Amino acid sequence: MSIAENIQIIKEKISNAEKKSGRTAGSVKLLAVSKFHPANDVLEAINAGQFYFGENRVQEAVEKFTPILENNPQVQLHIIGSLQSNKVKNAVKIASCIESIDRIELLKEMEKQCSKLEKNIEVLFELHTGEDSKSGFESPEKIEEALKLCAENQFPHIIPKGFMTMAPFTTDESLIRTSFSTLRKLSEKMKIEFPQFDLNELSMGMSGDFEIAIEEGSTIVRVGTAIFGERDYSK
Ligand SMILES: *Cc1c(COP(=O)(O)O)cnc(C)c1O
Repeated sequence: MSIAENIQIIKEKISNAEKKSGRTAGSVKLLAVSKFHPANDVLEAINAGQFYFGENRVQEAVEKFTPILENNPQVQLHIIGSLQSNKVKNAVKIASCIESIDRIELLKEMEKQCSKLEKNIEVLFELHTGEDSKSGFESPEKIEEALKLCAENQFPHIIPKGFMTMAPFTTDESLIRTSFSTLRKLSEKMKIEFPQFDLNELSMGMSGDFEIAIEEGSTIVRVGTAIFGERDYSK
């Protein structure tokens, strides 16, 4: 299967999952996760009409996407992996959104770098809901605290857009569903508490579980393997 064919298949599955759960057609965006895959694969996806990409390591993203972004102004890149503070400067240069906000310190550093660049950046707050991954804020209360600081206008270049999580790696569908519904409930609560922000994005669902995520309210599915194939971690 080519990358273009894989994208077509995923889009059909997204569309079916939207229908199945009574969601509006087109309400779920496909973020193509190209980590560990070469720039040529990204270009192949772009030729197939895919303009929305995710990478989890800043150095790799900068090398791969700097030329791609120069030549393809419609392409948007999200950083989805945990972000070290010393990588923020490069991350905010290339990304339109950082999905993996997991601490308030990170917002402070992003504000500093974004104000230098005079660039606004969108963010999603990552909640730790899975057993396996260690990434994300430990509790909804910590995310609420971060949003309060945003509401006090402490980070004028940072635009909160919603929430992100990774479900546990398990075949137990009920555990996966619980992870996604926990994030949705947090989002519903935060939307009421912070009506000044547009907190409509719910980034949840990967190759193995995106259909469940859509049923639970996902608006962004982050799909890597099902588009680009297995990753070669030895590289
Ligand atoms: C790698 C990665 C994905 C994509 O995973 P696949 O199982 O290959 O679809 C999604 N989200 C995050 C945070 C990732 O690091």
